[in-house]
Amino acid sequence: MVYDLMILGGGPAGYLAAERAGHAGLKVALVEERELGGVCLNEGCIPTKTMLYSAKLYDGVRHGEKYGVSAENLTIDHARAVARKAKVVKSLVAGVKALMKANQVAVFSARGEITGKSAEGYTIKAGEETLTGKRILVATGSAPAMPPIPGLKEGFDKGFVLTNREILDLKEIPSRLAVVGGGVIGLEMASYFNSVGAKVSVVEMLDHIAGENDQDLVNILKADFEKKGITFALSARVTAIEENGVRYEQGGESKFIEADKVLLSIGRRANTQGLGLETIGVYTERGAVITDDRMQTNQPGVYAAGDVTGFSMLAHTAYREAEVAVNNILGHGDAMRYEAIPAVLYTNPELASVGETEATAAAKGLPYKTVQLPMKFAGRYQAENEGGRGIMKLLVNTRTQQVIGLQALSNYASEFIIAATSFIELGLSLEAIKKIVFPHPTVSEIIREAVFQYE
Ligand code: FAD
Repeated sequence: MVYDLMILGGGPAGYLAAERAGHAGLKVALVEERELGGVCLNEGCIPTKTMLYSAKLYDGVRHGEKYGVSAENLTIDHARAVARKAKVVKSLVAGVKALMKANQVAVFSARGEITGKSAEGYTIKAGEETLTGKRILVATGSAPAMPPIPGLKEGFDKGFVLTNREILDLKEIPSRLAVVGGGVIGLEMASYFNSVGAKVSVVEMLDHIAGENDQDLVNILKADFEKKGITFALSARVTAIEENGVRYEQGGESKFIEADKVLLSIGRRANTQGLGLETIGVYTERGAVITDDRMQTNQPGVYAAGDVTGFSMLAHTAYREAEVAVNNILGHGDAMRYEAIPAVLYTNPELASVGETEATAAAKGLPYKTVQLPMKFAGRYQAENEGGRGIMKLLVNTRTQQVIGLQALSNYASEFIIAATSFIELGLSLEAIKKIVFPHPTVSEIIREAVFQYE
């Protein structure tokens, strides 16, 4: 059998590509060494959001007096939250399995490695089997970066240092959790463990948390976190993981945080080692596969999508990149665009953003104006956020009168960011947006308000 498409990796990029290609009638092989669904379903997006929901419910009732809600002897059962997470993951992974079956995808549960090229096509070794196919999609995703910090490996081997994989299955809440890395993953986990009672300290090398997000919004979120008891050490470089904590250097001084567990969340690296990419001459750069905007590598018929491209490590980017790759394989021209990729920090409140921030717009020299509004201008926000301090920023290109960015710190921000994503992707003008009817009362009405306030 010669497959039309062989896919390495069954995460969002791999399974979506398999589904679409199978549906279009291609003969597809999917090789996955762990679980279908990849990092996203098994140890990333879905499990974190499932657990964060338990924490949100708990916090909602715990701080419910101002809404007239109170409860006695309120507790959160962490073990039960973890068990429910496992149930949700199992159900979604089963859904992916069913999708593969429905689209006649041949799934191989093995580690795959590209072994070469013959007259019939490329070859992949998947466990004991050798597969041959006309094309390959590399969708092997990413893994946590493991820097050479003294004591890190030993700490990891002892179960003292955890990555996102292990922390989601912790049976007990650590009394003190040190989070190394204040990016999205670190902050979501800090938020959860703070809610369920751990004393959380975040150590971040940069002078700010939450990466490239708008710092005015981030500062409100950080102050909120601090009020809840999370501490931050910024401009702090971790120098060693010791027996009972994390040593770091800050402002020329050596400092130490005691911890019962350490979460390592300093970034992720593309999974390209041992894949055999070099045997067929696929170019990589700093460990990530290089593609063009059609997701094709330098080798004919070899594509890559998702985290393995090292570009925008988000599940929805992976989906779209996979779709672009399959569309090109099917001969339906398609190209990847990254201007309107939304990103969400699922803390409580959520921080959602799409397009340019003031910092990136200024760095690019774009002509822009910002409309900044307090979220409480939206009636529903006030109804549901007593004393809430959320804000939103809408960035408009003053030359084209088009929306080029939006950031919001608010409940439901993850849901309404799609509105701004659509404006940017479709290049809608402010005049066109003014004619769109928003449901009332919704938090999303803040966008309409901002559009009308633009002068
Ligand atoms: P992956 O999901 O990494 O899947 C790759 C698959 O390839 C894996 O299953 C792996 O086992 C398999 N594989 C690797 N090498 C081989 C091989 N040689 N042979 C066979 N199989 C192989 N993104 C969001 O958009 N929203 C979120 O809320 C979000 N939350 C996250 C929370 C956490 C804690 C983490 C870690 C990530 C989160 N992400 C989130 C990122 C998201 O999980 C990734 O962007 C997404 O999983 C990338 O999909 P992928 O298909 O490229 O790779």
